[in-house]
Amino acid sequence: MDNLQPKLQAVAADELRNRLAAILPAHSLIEETEAQRPYECDALSLYRELPLFVALPETVDQAQAVLRCCHALEVPVVARGAGTGLTAGAMGHPEGVLLGLAKLNRIIKIDPVARTATLQPGVTNLAISAAAAKYGLYYAPDPSSQIACTIGGNVAANSGGVHCLKYGLTTHNLLSIEMLTVEGERVTIGSPGLDSPGLDLMAVITGSEGLLGIAVEITVKLLPQPELARVLLAGFDSVRSAGDAVGAVVAAGIIPAGLEMMDALAIQAAEDFAQAGYPRDAEALLLCELDGTVEEVDQHIAQVSNIFSAHGATSLRISQDEAERALLWKGRKSAFPAVGRLAPDYYCMDGTIPRGQVSHVLEKISQLAEQYDLRVANVFHAGDGNLHPLIMYDGSDPAQIRRAEQFGADILDLSVAVGGAITGEHGVGLEKLNQMQTQFGEAELHLFEDIKIAFDPRLTLNPGKGIPILKRCQEYRALPGKHNHG
Ligand SMILES: Cc1cc2nc3c(=O)[nH]c(=O)nc-3n(C[C@H](O)[C@H](O)[C@H](O)COP(=O)(O)OP(=O)(O)OC[C@H]3O[C@@H](n4cnc5c(N)ncnc54)[C@H](O)[C@@H]3O)c2cc1C
Repeated sequence: MDNLQPKLQAVAADELRNRLAAILPAHSLIEETEAQRPYECDALSLYRELPLFVALPETVDQAQAVLRCCHALEVPVVARGAGTGLTAGAMGHPEGVLLGLAKLNRIIKIDPVARTATLQPGVTNLAISAAAAKYGLYYAPDPSSQIACTIGGNVAANSGGVHCLKYGLTTHNLLSIEMLTVEGERVTIGSPGLDSPGLDLMAVITGSEGLLGIAVEITVKLLPQPELARVLLAGFDSVRSAGDAVGAVVAAGIIPAGLEMMDALAIQAAEDFAQAGYPRDAEALLLCELDGTVEEVDQHIAQVSNIFSAHGATSLRISQDEAERALLWKGRKSAFPAVGRLAPDYYCMDGTIPRGQVSHVLEKISQLAEQYDLRVANVFHAGDGNLHPLIMYDGSDPAQIRRAEQFGADILDLSVAVGGAITGEHGVGLEKLNQMQTQFGEAELHLFEDIKIAFDPRLTLNPGKGIPILKRCQEYRALPGKHNHG
C-alpha cells in the first residue's frame, strides 16, 4: 500500500523480535513470510500487507506484555480476530505487530439468571448461542460470518446481522468490556448494571476498529429463545414493489426479527448454491422472519402476507418447521459465497440508505454497473436500509480492479447523497477512509482525531485505518525521533 511506510530499521526489528520471543512461546510468534501469508489480508483481499511479526498470545497476560513491549518501542499494533472483516481493518502494518486474538477463545461464564455471557475476544459469534442454548438463551446479533467471526471483532466493528432490526446491533447487546490500553493497562468499560457511572466509554469503544484499545473480555446480554419463529418468503416482479412492501410492514407497526431483500442476480446465485426453493423468476425477493409467542407469530404472518400480496407479491411461502426456516435462511446466509461462483472476484460494499430510497438507489446502481461495465448482485438488510452490493470483477485485470473500486466509491457517495451513511456494519478500515471526508466535515473529523489521540497519543494502534488523521498527523510527523505512521 502506498500510504504505509518502510519497515523498522533492522536493529529495532531485531530488538522487537527478541522481546516478543521472550514473551511468547515459539509457536505463537510467526516470523517467516510464507507462514504469515494467511494474515496478510482480511476478507477484503484487494488490500494486502505483511506485518513484521504475527503474535498469537494464548493468555491475556501475554497480550498485555506484547502491548507493553510495542508501546516501549513505539511499534504499531493491529488487532485481529478471525480476519473476516471486509474493510482491510485487520490488515497488518509493515512496521508493526499483528496481534491475533483467536487463541483467547474461552467462554468464561454463562449466567442464566442474569442472562449474560462473559467471553474472551476470540470466541466465535455462533459459539455464544451454541453455549447458551442449553439454558434456552441465545445471543441476538448474528453476522452472516458468525461461524467464524469473533466477538472481539464484532465489538470492534459494531457488527450487525439479520436479527439486528429487532434486537439491535452489537452495541445494544453489550454490558461491559475489559480492554487493554495502548500502554498495556487493563481497564473496565461499562458494568453489569443498566447504567454505568462516569462517561459512557462503551459507546466510544464499540465500533472503534482496534484504534483505541484491545478488547480482552466481553460481557454480552443473552435473550430467551422465542417460543416460535417462522419465515415468510415472497417473490416480486420488481425491486420497487419489494421495496415498497418493506416500508409498508414497518409502517404497520410490525418489527420483524429479520427483513432481508435480494435482487434477481443474487436470487439465482443463492438458489444455485443452496437450493432453498427461491423463486427463480422473481426480480426481487423478501425474507421476513416473525418471532414471539405462537399467537403473535400467527397474527403477524397473516398481516405481513396481506401486505406482501397487496404490494403485488408473485409468490408466497411460509416455513412450516425449523428445518424449512433454516433452509430459507441458508440461501440468504450463503449469498456472498454463492456470488463468488459467478465471477473470479467480488467486492462487497456496505452503505446505509433511508428505507424509502431503495428503488432509487438500486436504479442508480444498475446505471453505474453499465457505466463501469461490471455486474452487480444486491443483497440487503432491507429493514435497516443496509445495502450490500456485490460488484463482480476479475482480479487478474488491473483495469477491472480500478473500475470496481471506483464503482464502490460511487455507491458510498450515493448513499451519503440520499441521506444515508458510508458504513452500515462493516466499519471504515482502510477501505472507506476517503469517504469519511464525504460523510463528515473537518470539525467532526478533528473531534474523532482528538478522541483517537486521547487514547493513543503516539498513533500506534491500527495506524492508517478508521479515522483520516488530518492536521495532527503532520504535526506528529514533524516531531524529532518519531516514526512516520499512517
Ligand atoms: C461472508 C461474510 C459475511 C459477513 N456478514 C456480515 C454481517 O452480516 N454483518 C456484519 O456486521 N459483518 C459481516 N461481515 C464482516 C465481518 O465478519 C464482521 O465485521 C466481523 O465482526 C469481523 O470479526 P473478525 O473477528 O473477523 O474481526 P477481524 O476482521 O479480525 O477484525 C475486524 C476489526 O476489528 C479489530 N479487532 C478485532 N478484534 C479486536 C479486539 N479484540 N479488540 C479490538 N479490536 C479488534 C481489527 O483490528 C479490525 O479493525 C461479513 C464478512 C464475511 C466475509
